[in-house]
Amino acid sequence: MVNNSQGIIDQTQEYGAKNYHPLPVVIAKAEGVWVEDPEGNRYMDMLSAYSAVNQGHRHPKIIDALKKQADAVTLTSRAFHNDQLGPWYEKICKLTNKEMALPMNTGAEAVETAVKTARRWAYDVKGVAENKAEIIACEGNFHGRTMTAVSLSSEAEYKRGFGPMLPGIKIIPYGDLEALKAAINENTAGFLFEPIQGEAGIIIPPEGFLKEAYDVCKENNVLYIADEIQAGLARSGKMFACDWEDVTPDILILGKALGGGVFPISCIVANRDILGVFNPGSHGSTFGGNPLACAVSTASLEVLEEEKLADRSLELGNYMMEELKSIDNPIINEVRGKGLFIGVELTEAARPYCEALKEKGILCKETHENVIRFAPPLVIKKEDLEWALNHIKDVLKA
Ligand code: PLP
Repeated sequence: MVNNSQGIIDQTQEYGAKNYHPLPVVIAKAEGVWVEDPEGNRYMDMLSAYSAVNQGHRHPKIIDALKKQADAVTLTSRAFHNDQLGPWYEKICKLTNKEMALPMNTGAEAVETAVKTARRWAYDVKGVAENKAEIIACEGNFHGRTMTAVSLSSEAEYKRGFGPMLPGIKIIPYGDLEALKAAINENTAGFLFEPIQGEAGIIIPPEGFLKEAYDVCKENNVLYIADEIQAGLARSGKMFACDWEDVTPDILILGKALGGGVFPISCIVANRDILGVFNPGSHGSTFGGNPLACAVSTASLEVLEEEKLADRSLELGNYMMEELKSIDNPIINEVRGKGLFIGVELTEAARPYCEALKEKGILCKETHENVIRFAPPLVIKKEDLEWALNHIKDVLKA
């Protein structure tokens, strides 16, 4: 068996489809904010698997839940009940203040579920004519890689060679209230958006937009659907990014940190008048709501609450943002973010800076060519953050 970094990278290159362009580092172990390669070099993780590891790598409480559940039962399918699903339903509904939830596995599947929900709601509840339902999405969005998700995308490269795309989708500029009003008609089922666009480069909508868009949706009987897969679950300094403007979406889409970086689980939550559109046979997933995922997710949500990770993200995020803003270098166009969800936009390609940071022991990844995304696990200690900031300053000052 190959057990050195270069050998593993070569093996990956040889046999793997080339749908990713990873930094040349192999992670063999992880704990908290730290990861280690097979040679024993340590790095600080400043990406958190795109916010899936908000609770830190291998959080002891979450790993305990995984082990305990692995010794009991792991998969039943939904042909039968399992003893972990009920408690998880109650937990996620109470946390989000919603009446019902529907569990899936990956983020893209939860987005699929939200789109199916909105379409069926449009026909069964709103009274839209058959096959006419429309979804409004935003330029620059990222909702995943399935056909529905790429159909929603405005990125040519995400769609190239995959047509025909799903019909019934309108795209408006992100954060543009007038465009939203203009796009709505009697067939509009829902407005789907990220409260902070992660993959687009940590793009924050104009202040007031989340609330104003909510009001427009309410006035027009349109579902307000927030994809909080990356921005939610404490990442932005609030439990949900929509909390920044005190709005509760009609449909909330969650994933990533819902499984604490330990086991995949995603879901949508909504009230009964919306999620009630499903009946047996209309939707599902063999692994959706499996007991292992539910046990891990319940522990993952408890960690977010017990360790007050939203407050921690806000406090340390403010500190990190101030420090990053103090770096005096004309290549830095903008430092923006909320909580420990920070983008540093450069006037040039970000990849060489990510490679230089890797040499200093800090792992992060460019997004959209010229943005470095900093999103460490939210359990990070202030002194570890200070250590990272010293290296980041060295690299970005140079
Ligand atoms: N939605 C958002 C906002 C995301 O950031 C992502 C992943 O980055 C997804 C959906 C897709 O999630 P997954 O990769 O688990 O399918």
